[in-house]
Amino acid sequence: MAEPRGGHLTLVDGARVAVVGGGPAGALFACFLLSAARRSGRHFDVTIYGGQAGRQDGYGCGLSAGVLAHDFVRDLREAGILLPESVIQRRISHFVLETNLGSVRLASPGAASSVTVWRGPGPRGAASPSSAVNFDRLLLSSALAQGAVLVPGYVRKVVPCPERGGPPRLVYGDLNRQETEADLVVGASGLNSRFPTLVAELGFGYRPPGTIASVQVELETTQYGTCRADTDAITVFMLNLPGVMFASLTPKDGYQTVTLVGEAVGDRELGAFLDHPVVRRRVCPGGGQPRVVCRCRPRALNSAAVQPYADRLVMVGDAAASRLYKNGLHSALVTARAAATTALEHGVGREDFARYYEPVCNAIAADNESGRWLLHVYERVLGSSPWVARRILNAVAREQVQLPPGRRPACDILWHTLTGDVPYGELRRRVLSPGLYLSLLREGLASK
Ligand SMILES: Cc1cc2nc3c(=O)[nH]c(=O)nc-3n(C[C@H](O)[C@H](O)[C@H](O)COP(=O)(O)OP(=O)(O)OC[C@H]3O[C@@H](n4cnc5c(N)ncnc54)[C@H](O)[C@@H]3O)c2cc1C
Repeated sequence: MAEPRGGHLTLVDGARVAVVGGGPAGALFACFLLSAARRSGRHFDVTIYGGQAGRQDGYGCGLSAGVLAHDFVRDLREAGILLPESVIQRRISHFVLETNLGSVRLASPGAASSVTVWRGPGPRGAASPSSAVNFDRLLLSSALAQGAVLVPGYVRKVVPCPERGGPPRLVYGDLNRQETEADLVVGASGLNSRFPTLVAELGFGYRPPGTIASVQVELETTQYGTCRADTDAITVFMLNLPGVMFASLTPKDGYQTVTLVGEAVGDRELGAFLDHPVVRRRVCPGGGQPRVVCRCRPRALNSAAVQPYADRLVMVGDAAASRLYKNGLHSALVTARAAATTALEHGVGREDFARYYEPVCNAIAADNESGRWLLHVYERVLGSSPWVARRILNAVAREQVQLPPGRRPACDILWHTLTGDVPYGELRRRVLSPGLYLSLLREGLASK
């Protein structure tokens, strides 16, 4: 029930919307569409084909470190989604940057902090109370409360309508395959799925995002008295380990999530990381070995998709565009909101998505170029010479002692790079401003 109007396909009352994937992007798309439709007195049948989403049983870490940056939490609140205490694992007020030359502990520049959550039901045998709700389930419940219907199982195929602008069909289900027709298909399958490839095979021009490997494990720290690492800080490591581009340790209640990203990171890189003396000291300050209780190897986004839309089809979240290496959940929200607004206010034709949705994805992709530049600069500067790197770390540490919060140029840039809550383009601008170098020189020279 999408009708041509003024040359556009639009969703009319009673239209059937099929959302493929019940992760953050899919659930948020349903929330945005249904709440705005209600406000404008319209009704749509929204079905979320959820894959494994919504599971509260079993185990699983949700293929993510589970950090919710404060701008994401703020935008969720604006959308009426509040985080109950039972979802929050830890409140993050600090980042620790660990290098081979020493470490620096950064305090949040303002009152706003990030939080950590389990995206899935948590690791095998998790000691966390069964009443704790995982974050993806919370989002899905919000979508269901708005009127969406959840169909478990995977979508296996999309069959375009032979007539241009006609409704596509979906084949779904695990054992019993079924078919359905939709006025709009929303691809919210993420990257760790065959669905983006299926959509690319339709041949309308969609190219899935580029990806990079990652490894993630959960370390159980509760039962080991000596393994009581920071509970309010995320640690980021710059240790020049071969093959590892990014490494972090994220605290949860009784666990630490290790995340490694790199072109070909695998078990060897993970072993080298966990054996590194700086890491061992950080994980278990008093010595000892934590237990690895959960392990996964999701792909992370490395570049945005090409043409994530067609008539009656739009890809959102990781399947479309996402911020490079940080705060992907906020990008899921931003793309889901933009796609829902386009469908509701403008139409579901190719031209509508090209005009109103694609610029949002392009802005994320363009910002990622600044991100690449920034990460390259950090790598070059901190890796240039031990003398320079040590001066910079000292200057950052001194800024925190000498200058008031919000007026610490180097600390603030580092903080926002690590949280991902300020566009990379803005951080690039700050890195190029003379104020930063004045502060680094002043504090760096003052330090011994
Ligand atoms: C190692 C790692 C750590 C990360 N840590 C963070 C972090 O701490 N904070 C942050 O903000 N971002 C993080 N990200 C990025 C973040 O995970 C993604 O940006 C985010 O999950 C994207 O949401 P999504 O809904 O698009 O996809 P996903 O979260 O991947 O959800 C897709 C859903 O679709 C389902 N699905 C897939 N195929 C089908 C199908 N055919 N039919 C039906 N359902 C299907 C899947 O089961 C899943 O439930 C991390 C990424 C990686 C790889």
